[in-house]
Amino acid sequence: MKILLVEDNNELVADITTYLKENGFVTEKALTLREAVDRVSVYEYDLVILDLGLPDGDGLEVIGKLREQEAETALLILTAHDSLDAKVKGLNMGADDYITKPFHKAELNARIQSILRRKFAGGSHILKEGGLQIDLNARLIKAKGQLLNLTRKEYDLLLFLVYNKNRLLTKETIAEHLWGDHIDQADNFDFIYNHIKNLRRKITSAGVEDCIRSIYGMGYKFVTDGS
Ligand code: CA
Repeated sequence: MKILLVEDNNELVADITTYLKENGFVTEKALTLREAVDRVSVYEYDLVILDLGLPDGDGLEVIGKLREQEAETALLILTAHDSLDAKVKGLNMGADDYITKPFHKAELNARIQSILRRKFAGGSHILKEGGLQIDLNARLIKAKGQLLNLTRKEYDLLLFLVYNKNRLLTKETIAEHLWGDHIDQADNFDFIYNHIKNLRRKITSAGVEDCIRSIYGMGYKFVTDGS
């Protein structure tokens, strides 16, 4: 899952970024409104964490930009105590939730998990697709009741495929979402192939049909409708 953190407080950015990384998220940052708008125009994010008080303008403009692009990005607003108006305005504009500063990082993580569950798993923390049972809280995947021994990247990759089931994900998109924006300059994406190969081996050896389709020269698709 790829997150864009829009926040002008450097210390907070460093702190949150470290924490999110530890929790398995790829995190990019934008310190100004300008930077945030540029980033959401070019890259796709699963979630944007948005501070509304930015040095060069109102963070709410980022929401407008996302809606304009019809992005499916989830949105969590960071607000100061006294900015009830902005909070309400943000929620009205389609933000998924807000969190008031100062907050505990565990609370931030809980909000993020809850947004992602609502958005991708219909509110449950157990997601069932293609013979797999994914526990989003524990970050574990079972196939036919058997726990798959996955690396962190394999888990993230499989979850990303499942979240986007029946949709072609290009290698570039997968690389960006799992490794971050800097990866789009990579010469080739063979490393993704290797992760996919390992995933397939682990899934099929648990006796479950492999639902990952390779689309030659393009990317991968997690197929659940038999096509
Ligand atoms: Ca601020």
